[in-house]
Amino acid sequence: MTELRYLPDADDVTTFTATVTEATQEYVVLEGTYFYPEGGGQPADRGTLEWDGGRATVGNVRKDHGEVRHDLESLEGEPPEPGTTVEGTIDAERRRDLSRMHTAQHVVSRLVLEEFGATTAGNQIHVDRSRIDFEPADFDGDDLERIQRLSNEAIERDYAVTKADRPRDAVEAAVDEGRSLLEMIPDHVDPLRVVDIEDFDMCPCGGTHVDRLGEIGRIEITDRTSKGENVERLEFELRDS
Ligand SMILES: [Zn+2]
Repeated sequence: MTELRYLPDADDVTTFTATVTEATQEYVVLEGTYFYPEGGGQPADRGTLEWDGGRATVGNVRKDHGEVRHDLESLEGEPPEPGTTVEGTIDAERRRDLSRMHTAQHVVSRLVLEEFGATTAGNQIHVDRSRIDFEPADFDGDDLERIQRLSNEAIERDYAVTKADRPRDAVEAAVDEGRSLLEMIPDHVDPLRVVDIEDFDMCPCGGTHVDRLGEIGRIEITDRTSKGENVERLEFELRDS
């Protein structure tokens, strides 16, 4: 098992050292990592690993049966032996962009639930644009303008974002219906990592997030498409405010 060290609230760490447990020409496994592995609608971090006698760039990071594999895009020297200490450096700008996007997604998902009673059926974030599928929903132009305006008003209030582990039964009791897919999280996962936006939203989530809403900038809804009956897909981008 690779320890996910960015959890619950170290998602601002982008340099670290860790011990190798397995390495090939293709990938490196560490006993613990701060790299985010792809999942939950958020792409993986990228960066580099360096050790005595070698260096590699990390092109992708993914979970494989509880292990986190850092896929090597390029390798200089020989792969590190198990037990070797490596220095990990995460592409901090990419991480920051993905964190801003992920917190922005929580803001929009909360507002749409509150204003339109629609839940988030799926989402995919990227560095430059993101999308959320809402159900049931049928938005018109005024609705989009309203979602964008209310999202940006929440961001301007600069609420604090906190991340913590909480007992599962407490989360189940406190989370609003439609704001989590708790039934999708296996029963044995307890405690749950929860992302709280002060006075505004609470949602179990394993992604990376900013510490204050003001870091997001400004949300601009750029597209809306119908994805079948009752499902609407919104796309948004972030602007520096
Ligand atoms: Zn999330």
